[in-house]
Amino acid sequence: MCGIVGYLGKGQAYPALIKGLKRLEYRGYDSAGVALISEDGSLNVYKAKGKVADLEAYCADKDVSGSVGIAHTRWATHGEPCSANAHPHYSSSEKLALIHNGIIENYAVLKEKLQAKGYIFKSSTDTEVLVQLIEYMKVTNQVSLLTAVQLALGEVIGAYAIAILDKEHPDEIIAARKSSPLVVGIGADEFFLASDATPIVEYTDKVVYLEDGEIAVL
Ligand code: GLU
Repeated sequence: MCGIVGYLGKGQAYPALIKGLKRLEYRGYDSAGVALISEDGSLNVYKAKGKVADLEAYCADKDVSGSVGIAHTRWATHGEPCSANAHPHYSSSEKLALIHNGIIENYAVLKEKLQAKGYIFKSSTDTEVLVQLIEYMKVTNQVSLLTAVQLALGEVIGAYAIAILDKEHPDEIIAARKSSPLVVGIGADEFFLASDATPIVEYTDKVVYLEDGEIAVL
């Protein structure tokens, strides 16, 4: 199983995210990606098939500013390894971006329901269904991102570790897990998130291993 990294703090997110992905390379993967909320408030998503070094090369001429971000290495289960299927995945409005390790078993039925409501999908992953479902819950129920995540996860059957960014709330990362590991690191005015503690230990020894069914708000 592949990797998740997140950063929220006073520093620049991108260097910590790339370093974190490299620490998780041993887990195996076929593509990598990163989402950052830039200093001008854009939610930028960059993805590449191949190694973390390929992602870095792709990002070389991009705006990688921002002090909040999430990053992912993917091991494809639903859809071929390619940049369209790599994570993060945007929601339809492109206000949300999500990364996911694991499998959403009932993705097909959820996807059909969302397509019937007009949602358009750009990848063949199970993961994109989850970010669209979260957006659907948020918009139709007029609730916070946290409540939308809780409502969406209530509909989902499967295994997941997820992290999600909302461009309208650039001071927050929401993360959740079920049957897939996730660790939160608490530093000095900064937070880290990762699939295991290896990307975090150089910054802080205060770590919290999420339990199944828990949601973290950083
Ligand atoms: N099932 C998801 C996909 O195929 C996530 C795979 C993973 O754990 O990296 O995109």
